Amino acid sequence: MKYKAPRGTRDLLPGEAEKWHFVESRFKELCNIYGFTEIRTPIFEETALFVRSMGEETDVVKKEMYIFKDQGGRELALRPEGTAGVVRAFIEHGIHNEAQPVKLFYYGPMFRYDRPQAGRQRQFYQMGIEIFGTKDPAVDVEVIKFSQDFFQGLGFSNLSLQINSTGCSECREDYLEQLSVFADARVSSLCGDCKERSRLNPLRLLDCKEIGCREEMKDAPRITDHLCSSCRDHFDKVLFLLDSLEIIYNVDHQLVRGLDYYTNTAFEFHSSTLGAQNSLGGGGRYDNLVEVCGGASTPGVGMAVGVERIVMAMEKEALFSEEMPAAGIFIAVGEQNDLPLRREALLLLNYLRGKGIVCDTDYLGRSLKAQMKFANRKRFRYVVILGGEDPSEGTLKVRDMLKGDQTELLRSEAIELLLKNCGK
Ligand SMILES: [Zn+2]
Ligand SMILES: [Zn+2]
Repeated sequence: MKYKAPRGTRDLLPGEAEKWHFVESRFKELCNIYGFTEIRTPIFEETALFVRSMGEETDVVKKEMYIFKDQGGRELALRPEGTAGVVRAFIEHGIHNEAQPVKLFYYGPMFRYDRPQAGRQRQFYQMGIEIFGTKDPAVDVEVIKFSQDFFQGLGFSNLSLQINSTGCSECREDYLEQLSVFADARVSSLCGDCKERSRLNPLRLLDCKEIGCREEMKDAPRITDHLCSSCRDHFDKVLFLLDSLEIIYNVDHQLVRGLDYYTNTAFEFHSSTLGAQNSLGGGGRYDNLVEVCGGASTPGVGMAVGVERIVMAMEKEALFSEEMPAAGIFIAVGEQNDLPLRREALLLLNYLRGKGIVCDTDYLGRSLKAQMKFANRKRFRYVVILGGEDPSEGTLKVRDMLKGDQTELLRSEAIELLLKNCGK
């Protein structure tokens, strides 16, 4: 029997995991600078939470959720996105009673039963931020600026920002009617899903991935022509502040994002290497979501990015440095059967580790030559050789693996050198 990782999942092997660490640590550093603190929620929740928050008619809820019953008969679902769980926790723990706005970030695996493709897995990782408790358009801009800083900090230089307003429930009503009338006139050229959408959820007509539908809907009525005065004002202020920060954007009238809960601002960042259909990440405002999920009316705005996509785009754009820099110390022993020598190696190993230095030794009984080869392959900066040819009392042989030269130093001098060059 040969087991394989389930379709749509993948193992992160050593070498690849470091790339993820890099992306994650940049994200967390930026969260710290912007004042976001972490929240961790379970990877499964009651199914009803997702149905309620994302909307019954969304693709995610209809086709892509991992739903199961536990032993107690509870209807549960693996989380398909991060915001719903954060909102549930926000309400459950009365976080709306704390000083507002509340700025949170999350990171973790999400699950969608989707057709696996490059950069899109059934178990995928998302990082996101949420700000609760203010309608200030400057906060929308803060979330957008955060996203831009994050992508630029990773080295992306060909970024484009798409932005739109999706209005509020008030101004949407009249607009959706016009949109369905427009779609009904073209219903024969729309895909099966869109035929249904025009009846049940017309806004989704705008973000159908089918080329034919996109072509048909190109000249559809624009929501920005139907905004109520407060939504218009909000959108104008967001654009004004983006201009003030010299953030270049393109108003994309088709951009509505896949989920029902967005109101007002919706945005996405694209990188030219991934193509127009694949965003690096995006977000928007969701002023009704907390209330829809059973909390007191609380505005919110956030963004999320997919780690697989970012890593894939960074690989395409060669944004990871080619090779890990040489670091740390390898302690080699000249004679593996010499127990006192091995004892000395272990003592030195633990001494250096105690000083916070990356350090390792041989556990396979390799010859000195094979140990040097191993240390080179693992990119250690220095090798300390104990014993070997002509050992002399009270000294250590230190080989600089970058320069390729070897010196014999008094033990205290050798340690001083290693601490200086390999310490933090
Ligand atoms: Zn409105
Ligand atoms: Zn369609």
